[in-house]
Amino acid sequence: MKKILALLAAAALVATTFAFAGCEKKVEDADANVDGEAVEGEGEDKEAVEGEENAATEDEKEEEKEEEKEVAEDDGKLVMATNAYFQPYEYFEGDKIVGIDVEIAEAIAEKLGLELVIDDMEFNSIIAAVQSGAADMGVAGMTVTEERLESVDFSYSYANGVQSIIVAEGSAITTVDDLYAEGADYQVGVQLATTGDIYSTDDFGEENVTRYSNGSEAVLALQGGDIDCVIIDNEPAKALVAANEGLVILETSYADEDYAICVKKGNTELLDKINVAIEELTAEGKIEEIVAKYIK
Ligand code: GLN
Repeated sequence: MKKILALLAAAALVATTFAFAGCEKKVEDADANVDGEAVEGEGEDKEAVEGEENAATEDEKEEEKEEEKEVAEDDGKLVMATNAYFQPYEYFEGDKIVGIDVEIAEAIAEKLGLELVIDDMEFNSIIAAVQSGAADMGVAGMTVTEERLESVDFSYSYANGVQSIIVAEGSAITTVDDLYAEGADYQVGVQLATTGDIYSTDDFGEENVTRYSNGSEAVLALQGGDIDCVIIDNEPAKALVAANEGLVILETSYADEDYAICVKKGNTELLDKINVAIEELTAEGKIEEIVAKYIK
Protein backbone atom coordinates (compact mmCIF):
# COMPACT_ATOMS: atom_id res chain seq x y z
CA MET A 1 0.00 0.00 0.00
CA LYS A 2 2.74 2.34 0.97
CA LYS A 3 4.45 1.65 -2.29
CA ILE A 4 1.34 2.54 -4.24
CA LEU A 5 0.94 5.76 -2.33
CA ALA A 6 4.54 6.63 -2.97
CA LEU A 7 3.99 6.01 -6.66
CA LEU A 8 0.88 8.13 -6.66
CA ALA A 9 2.76 10.93 -4.95
CA ALA A 10 5.50 10.68 -7.52
CA ALA A 11 2.92 10.72 -10.28
CA ALA A 12 1.32 13.81 -8.78
CA LEU A 13 4.67 15.51 -8.64
CA VAL A 14 5.37 14.66 -12.23
CA ALA A 15 1.92 15.84 -13.23
CA THR A 16 2.54 19.13 -11.44
CA THR A 17 5.84 19.54 -13.20
CA PHE A 18 4.19 18.85 -16.53
CA ALA A 19 1.40 21.25 -15.74
CA PHE A 20 3.94 23.88 -14.83
CA ALA A 21 5.92 23.27 -17.98
CA GLY A 22 2.63 23.41 -19.79
CA CYS A 23 1.88 26.82 -18.33
CA GLU A 24 5.18 28.15 -19.42
CA LYS A 25 4.77 26.85 -22.89
CA LYS A 26 1.25 28.08 -23.33
CA VAL A 27 2.16 31.54 -22.16
CA GLU A 28 5.15 31.59 -24.38
CA ASP A 29 3.35 30.22 -27.40
CA ALA A 30 0.10 32.00 -27.46
CA ASP A 31 -0.35 34.24 -24.43
CA ALA A 32 -3.13 31.89 -23.51
CA ASN A 33 -4.81 31.64 -20.13
CA VAL A 34 -2.49 29.38 -18.18
CA ASP A 35 -5.16 27.59 -16.19
CA GLY A 36 -6.96 24.51 -17.39
CA GLU A 37 -5.84 24.52 -20.99
CA ALA A 38 -2.20 24.20 -20.16
CA VAL A 39 -2.79 20.98 -18.25
CA GLU A 40 -4.37 19.44 -21.32
CA GLY A 41 -1.04 19.65 -23.08
CA GLU A 42 0.50 17.51 -20.34
CA GLY A 43 1.79 14.61 -22.45
CA GLU A 44 3.07 16.87 -25.13
CA ASP A 45 4.92 19.06 -22.71
CA LYS A 46 7.00 16.22 -21.36
CA GLU A 47 9.47 17.16 -24.06
CA ALA A 48 9.74 20.67 -22.73
CA VAL A 49 10.72 19.33 -19.32
CA GLU A 50 13.16 16.82 -20.65
CA GLY A 51 14.98 18.57 -23.35
CA GLU A 52 13.57 22.02 -24.03
CA GLU A 53 12.37 20.67 -27.33
CA ASN A 54 9.64 22.54 -29.11
CA ALA A 55 6.36 21.46 -30.64
CA ALA A 56 7.85 21.18 -34.14
CA THR A 57 10.28 18.52 -32.96
CA GLU A 58 7.39 16.71 -31.33
CA ASP A 59 5.51 16.72 -34.64
CA GLU A 60 8.56 15.38 -36.43
CA LYS A 61 8.77 12.53 -33.97
CA GLU A 62 5.13 11.67 -34.54
CA GLU A 63 5.74 11.65 -38.30
CA GLU A 64 8.76 9.42 -37.88
CA LYS A 65 6.68 6.95 -35.90
CA GLU A 66 4.12 6.85 -38.71
CA GLU A 67 6.83 6.32 -41.28
CA GLU A 68 8.26 3.40 -39.37
CA LYS A 69 4.81 1.89 -39.39
CA GLU A 70 4.47 2.47 -43.15
CA VAL A 71 7.77 0.79 -43.95
CA ALA A 72 6.97 -2.12 -41.67
CA GLU A 73 3.57 -2.51 -43.29
CA ASP A 74 5.20 -2.79 -46.68
CA ASP A 75 5.69 -6.46 -46.17
CA GLY A 76 9.25 -6.68 -47.37
CA LYS A 77 8.38 -4.97 -50.65
CA LEU A 78 9.69 -1.75 -52.14
CA VAL A 79 7.10 -0.46 -54.59
CA MET A 80 8.47 1.70 -57.40
CA ALA A 81 6.09 3.85 -59.41
CA THR A 82 7.27 4.50 -62.94
CA ASN A 83 6.16 5.12 -66.51
CA ALA A 84 7.71 2.42 -68.67
CA TYR A 85 7.81 4.39 -71.91
CA PHE A 86 11.07 6.15 -71.25
CA GLN A 87 13.85 4.18 -72.87
CA PRO A 88 16.59 3.50 -71.72
CA TYR A 89 15.51 4.35 -68.14
CA GLU A 90 12.36 2.23 -68.10
CA TYR A 91 10.75 0.41 -70.98
CA PHE A 92 9.18 -2.87 -71.93
CA GLU A 93 11.29 -5.65 -73.31
CA GLY A 94 8.60 -8.19 -74.14
CA ASP A 95 6.39 -8.11 -71.07
CA LYS A 96 9.24 -7.25 -68.74
CA ILE A 97 10.08 -3.70 -67.63
CA VAL A 98 13.82 -3.10 -67.87
CA GLY A 99 16.21 -0.14 -67.95
CA ILE A 100 18.63 1.99 -65.96
CA ASP A 101 16.10 3.05 -63.32
CA VAL A 102 14.87 -0.50 -62.90
CA GLU A 103 18.38 -1.84 -62.31
CA ILE A 104 19.28 0.99 -59.95
CA ALA A 105 16.03 0.43 -58.03
CA GLU A 106 16.75 -3.30 -57.90
CA ALA A 107 20.22 -2.64 -56.50
CA ILE A 108 18.75 -0.28 -53.89
CA ALA A 109 16.05 -2.81 -52.92
CA GLU A 110 18.71 -5.48 -52.54
CA LYS A 111 20.71 -3.26 -50.17
CA LEU A 112 17.56 -2.59 -48.16
CA GLY A 113 16.72 -6.28 -48.04
CA LEU A 114 13.43 -5.65 -49.83
CA GLU A 115 11.80 -7.08 -52.92
CA LEU A 116 11.33 -4.56 -55.73
CA VAL A 117 7.82 -4.33 -57.15
CA ILE A 118 7.32 -2.18 -60.27
CA ASP A 119 4.06 -0.32 -60.72
CA ASP A 120 3.75 1.09 -64.25
CA MET A 121 1.46 4.11 -64.55
CA GLU A 122 1.05 7.45 -66.35
CA PHE A 123 3.99 9.76 -65.60
CA ASN A 124 1.45 12.26 -64.33
CA SER A 125 0.23 9.81 -61.63
CA ILE A 126 3.60 8.98 -60.07
CA ILE A 127 3.76 11.82 -57.55
CA ALA A 128 0.19 11.17 -56.38
CA ALA A 129 0.97 7.46 -55.97
CA VAL A 130 3.97 8.32 -53.81
CA GLN A 131 2.00 10.88 -51.80
CA SER A 132 -0.82 8.44 -51.10
CA GLY A 133 1.55 5.64 -50.12
CA ALA A 134 0.36 3.42 -53.01
CA ALA A 135 4.04 3.41 -54.03
CA ASP A 136 7.09 3.82 -51.80
CA MET A 137 9.12 5.73 -54.35
CA GLY A 138 8.97 7.22 -57.82
CA VAL A 139 11.84 6.20 -60.09
CA ALA A 140 11.16 7.56 -63.54
CA GLY A 141 14.02 9.68 -64.82
CA MET A 142 12.31 12.27 -62.70
CA THR A 143 13.80 15.73 -62.59
CA VAL A 144 14.11 17.53 -59.28
CA THR A 145 12.15 20.79 -59.49
CA GLU A 146 11.19 23.39 -56.89
CA GLU A 147 7.53 22.75 -57.55
CA ARG A 148 7.80 18.98 -57.11
CA LEU A 149 9.77 19.52 -53.90
CA GLU A 150 6.57 20.99 -52.48
CA SER A 151 4.82 17.63 -52.92
CA VAL A 152 7.56 15.02 -52.45
CA ASP A 153 11.13 14.67 -51.19
CA PHE A 154 13.97 13.75 -53.53
CA SER A 155 17.01 11.55 -53.02
CA TYR A 156 20.51 12.45 -54.10
CA SER A 157 20.67 12.75 -57.84
CA TYR A 158 21.85 9.61 -59.64
CA ALA A 159 21.97 10.96 -63.22
CA ASN A 160 21.94 14.13 -65.26
CA GLY A 161 19.22 14.76 -67.79
CA VAL A 162 19.06 17.04 -70.78
CA GLN A 163 15.90 18.26 -72.48
CA SER A 164 16.44 17.86 -76.22
CA ILE A 165 14.53 19.03 -79.25
CA ILE A 166 13.46 16.55 -81.93
CA VAL A 167 12.44 17.93 -85.33
CA ALA A 168 11.68 16.43 -88.74
CA GLU A 169 14.66 16.39 -91.10
CA GLY A 170 14.81 19.68 -93.01
CA SER A 171 12.77 21.53 -90.37
CA ALA A 172 12.86 25.34 -90.22
CA ILE A 173 13.84 24.89 -86.56
CA THR A 174 17.60 24.37 -86.55
CA THR A 175 18.63 25.63 -83.11
CA VAL A 176 16.87 26.18 -79.80
CA ASP A 177 16.97 29.95 -80.45
CA ASP A 178 14.58 29.53 -83.40
CA LEU A 179 11.86 28.64 -80.92
CA TYR A 180 12.25 32.05 -79.25
CA ALA A 181 12.69 34.08 -82.46
CA GLU A 182 10.53 37.15 -83.03
CA GLY A 183 7.24 36.04 -84.57
CA ALA A 184 7.98 32.33 -84.10
CA ASP A 185 4.76 30.40 -83.70
CA TYR A 186 5.70 26.76 -83.41
CA GLN A 187 3.68 23.91 -81.94
CA VAL A 188 5.79 22.09 -79.38
CA GLY A 189 4.90 18.50 -78.47
CA VAL A 190 5.70 17.24 -74.98
CA GLN A 191 4.92 14.41 -72.61
CA LEU A 192 2.22 15.50 -70.16
CA ALA A 193 3.48 16.86 -66.81
CA THR A 194 7.16 16.40 -67.59
CA THR A 195 9.68 19.19 -67.24
CA GLY A 196 9.55 19.49 -71.05
CA ASP A 197 5.86 20.34 -70.61
CA ILE A 198 6.35 22.65 -67.63
CA TYR A 199 9.23 24.65 -69.14
CA SER A 200 7.80 24.99 -72.65
CA THR A 201 4.41 26.03 -71.34
CA ASP A 202 6.24 28.74 -69.38
CA ASP A 203 8.33 29.78 -72.36
CA PHE A 204 5.96 29.49 -75.31
CA GLY A 205 2.50 29.65 -73.74
CA GLU A 206 -0.27 27.12 -73.28
CA GLU A 207 -1.54 27.61 -76.86
CA ASN A 208 1.81 26.55 -78.35
CA VAL A 209 2.19 23.32 -76.42
CA THR A 210 0.48 20.00 -77.21
CA ARG A 211 0.63 17.30 -74.54
CA TYR A 212 0.85 13.57 -75.18
CA SER A 213 0.85 10.74 -72.71
CA ASN A 214 4.28 9.54 -73.85
CA GLY A 215 7.16 10.37 -76.19
CA SER A 216 6.12 7.86 -78.86
CA GLU A 217 2.75 9.55 -79.28
CA ALA A 218 4.42 12.94 -79.54
CA VAL A 219 6.81 11.65 -82.19
CA LEU A 220 3.91 10.16 -84.18
CA ALA A 221 2.26 13.59 -84.18
CA LEU A 222 5.55 15.14 -85.32
CA GLN A 223 5.79 12.67 -88.20
CA GLY A 224 2.18 13.43 -89.05
CA GLY A 225 2.91 17.16 -89.20
CA ASP A 226 0.58 18.07 -86.31
CA ILE A 227 3.42 19.66 -84.36
CA ASP A 228 6.79 21.24 -85.24
CA CYS A 229 9.07 19.68 -82.63
CA VAL A 230 9.12 17.46 -79.57
CA ILE A 231 10.89 18.52 -76.39
CA ILE A 232 11.87 15.50 -74.36
CA ASP A 233 14.75 14.05 -72.34
CA ASN A 234 17.81 13.34 -74.45
CA GLU A 235 18.17 9.57 -73.99
CA PRO A 236 14.52 8.80 -74.79
CA ALA A 237 14.89 11.28 -77.67
CA LYS A 238 17.79 9.22 -79.06
CA ALA A 239 15.77 6.01 -78.76
CA LEU A 240 12.77 7.63 -80.45
CA VAL A 241 14.84 9.02 -83.32
CA ALA A 242 16.55 5.63 -83.80
CA ALA A 243 13.18 3.89 -83.96
CA ASN A 244 11.48 6.40 -86.27
CA GLU A 245 12.34 7.55 -89.79
CA GLY A 246 13.05 11.13 -90.80
CA LEU A 247 13.75 12.71 -87.41
CA VAL A 248 16.78 14.47 -85.96
CA ILE A 249 17.81 15.84 -82.57
CA LEU A 250 19.04 19.43 -82.56
CA GLU A 251 22.58 19.93 -81.36
CA THR A 252 21.56 22.69 -79.00
CA SER A 253 19.64 21.43 -76.00
CA TYR A 254 16.75 23.05 -74.20
CA ALA A 255 17.54 22.45 -70.49
CA ASP A 256 19.90 20.60 -68.13
CA GLU A 257 18.56 18.78 -65.12
CA ASP A 258 19.14 16.23 -62.36
CA TYR A 259 17.27 12.95 -61.99
CA ALA A 260 16.46 11.67 -58.53
CA ILE A 261 14.14 9.29 -56.72
CA CYS A 262 11.11 10.77 -55.00
CA VAL A 263 9.52 9.55 -51.77
CA LYS A 264 6.56 10.71 -49.71
CA LYS A 265 7.22 14.06 -48.10
CA GLY A 266 8.69 13.55 -44.64
CA ASN A 267 9.55 9.88 -45.14
CA THR A 268 13.09 10.52 -44.00
CA GLU A 269 13.53 6.94 -42.88
CA LEU A 270 13.22 5.58 -46.41
CA LEU A 271 14.91 8.60 -47.99
CA ASP A 272 17.99 8.20 -45.78
CA LYS A 273 18.22 4.51 -46.67
CA ILE A 274 17.90 5.27 -50.38
CA ASN A 275 20.56 7.96 -50.12
CA VAL A 276 22.99 5.65 -48.34
CA ALA A 277 22.33 3.00 -51.00
CA ILE A 278 22.93 5.53 -53.82
CA GLU A 279 26.18 6.62 -52.17
CA GLU A 280 27.34 3.04 -51.83
CA LEU A 281 26.32 2.09 -55.36
CA THR A 282 28.16 5.13 -56.70
CA ALA A 283 31.31 4.31 -54.70
CA GLU A 284 31.14 0.69 -55.87
CA GLY A 285 30.95 1.86 -59.49
CA LYS A 286 27.64 0.04 -59.83
CA ILE A 287 25.61 3.03 -61.09
CA GLU A 288 28.20 3.78 -63.74
CA GLU A 289 28.17 0.13 -64.76
CA ILE A 290 24.37 0.08 -65.10
CA VAL A 291 24.34 3.33 -67.11
CA ALA A 292 27.12 2.06 -69.41
CA LYS A 293 25.08 -1.04 -70.12
CA TYR A 294 22.27 1.06 -71.62
CA ILE A 295 24.02 4.21 -72.86
CA LYS A 296 26.90 3.46 -75.18
N1 GLN B 1 12.79 14.21 -66.71
C1 GLN B 1 11.45 14.52 -67.07
C2 GLN B 1 10.67 14.94 -65.88
O1 GLN B 1 11.02 14.65 -64.79
C3 GLN B 1 10.74 13.41 -67.82
C4 GLN B 1 10.61 12.14 -67.05
C5 GLN B 1 9.76 11.08 -67.74
O2 GLN B 1 9.08 11.35 -68.74
N2 GLN B 1 9.78 9.88 -67.26
O3 GLN B 1 9.67 15.55 -66.01
